[in-house]
Amino acid sequence: MATQTIAAAINPWHVAQQQFDLAAVHLNLSPGLRKVLREPKRELTVHFPVKMDDGTVEVFTGYRVQHNLSRGPAKGGIRYHQDVTLDEVKALAMWMTWKCAVVGIPFGGGKGGVRVDPKKLSLREVEGLTRRFTTEISILIAPDRDIPAPDVNTNAQTMAWMMDTYSMNVGYTAPAVVTGKPVALGGSEGRTEATGRGVVYSIVEAARHLDMDLGKCRVAVQGFGNVGGVSARLIAAEGATVVGLSDWMGAIYRPQGLDVDAVLAWVQEHRTVMGFPGAREITNGELLELDCDILIPAALETQITAANAGKIRARMIAEAANGPTTPEADEILHKNGRFVIPDILCNAGGVTVSYFEWVQDLERDFWNIGHVNEKLREVMTKAFASTLEMSLKQEVSMRTAAYMLAVQRVADATSVRGLYP
Ligand code: NAD
Repeated sequence: MATQTIAAAINPWHVAQQQFDLAAVHLNLSPGLRKVLREPKRELTVHFPVKMDDGTVEVFTGYRVQHNLSRGPAKGGIRYHQDVTLDEVKALAMWMTWKCAVVGIPFGGGKGGVRVDPKKLSLREVEGLTRRFTTEISILIAPDRDIPAPDVNTNAQTMAWMMDTYSMNVGYTAPAVVTGKPVALGGSEGRTEATGRGVVYSIVEAARHLDMDLGKCRVAVQGFGNVGGVSARLIAAEGATVVGLSDWMGAIYRPQGLDVDAVLAWVQEHRTVMGFPGAREITNGELLELDCDILIPAALETQITAANAGKIRARMIAEAANGPTTPEADEILHKNGRFVIPDILCNAGGVTVSYFEWVQDLERDFWNIGHVNEKLREVMTKAFASTLEMSLKQEVSMRTAAYMLAVQRVADATSVRGLYP
């Protein structure tokens, strides 16, 4: 698939460092701080055995990276994907540091991943892999140290297994060690939908700023998993017309609009959007270039590159995925007047409600869905407003503005703590 070839050729860690360097220049950050913030604090690689259903043993490779812990414990998801690399996890951990800072929640950045295609494993094998991986990284994770959450190909069930494994190992129940858990285990109401909901809150703010009427907007969404699925459903609920949807198998297009709920039901049954009746099948590359007003990349990194950025027709790009745009593509989009809501702002709803979940677990006091969503809206709109203000004041893109806000906050925390010893 074209998108996978592009993604494989670009190293997300180099992208993350380039984005940081640009912000460091704008902020005139001292050389010492630049060196500290440019590298992760810790990188753990584990190779661990899992007994497969046929009795054989497979060895898998996994990672947990903590980027910067100046503002609080590490926070970040666990990804299961056949293309996971240490560099990808490092980039995702660094992005988490900035994301937590831009929305003002007291966490540092972390991320984890296992190199595996979970679609090829049985449920029991995925459980075995999750439990052993949790044990391997338990030298890092703890409720006040490093708190994982779901990401690509992991979900509330994965988090339940992680929480149970950690709790078995320490000898008591520790709900706050992961977020994104089922509500029955101390998960938060609204967490499953939080990332997509936050994406749509930020689109609503951007549309207000750009004077775009969502009722007249056509939307394309790349990736139809947790984040893409919820974003598509909620943007349709705002009155927009969803014309394109995709997953790893390919994309579907219907200029008159797709019934998102019907596509979700189709995917439940067929495990892909492909074959959805009444829609034209196109490639993921074509989906990005569709004639639409809002593009929501919600799959993987480095999908919008110098090769296709010039062909993107959407006026607004809402980065639901982490790192979907390369720095070269960013420049082209900026030059072409596209309004990009950068990932560290756009998809911060997930980690924000993860923070709410962690607080609820620690306090043993649980909130209702209305309270969760209202507080989420508050955090997202405030962060959007501060980023927009910075962008207009400094005459920089929304990404540079979000980085300037975030990096400054992390730099302040890092320098005021001082250099130990
Ligand atoms: P998911 O596993 O639920 O869904 C991923 C979707 O992307 C699936 O539909 C999959 O088929 C599709 N996909 C995979 N490879 C693709 C390709 N090459 N081209 C097109 N589609 C492809 O994962 P998710 O949790 O929805 O995460 C999606 C993105 O959002 C990731 O970048 C993730 O890091 C980011 N994110 C997730 C959360 C969260 O709370 N889950 C929070 C913040 C950011």
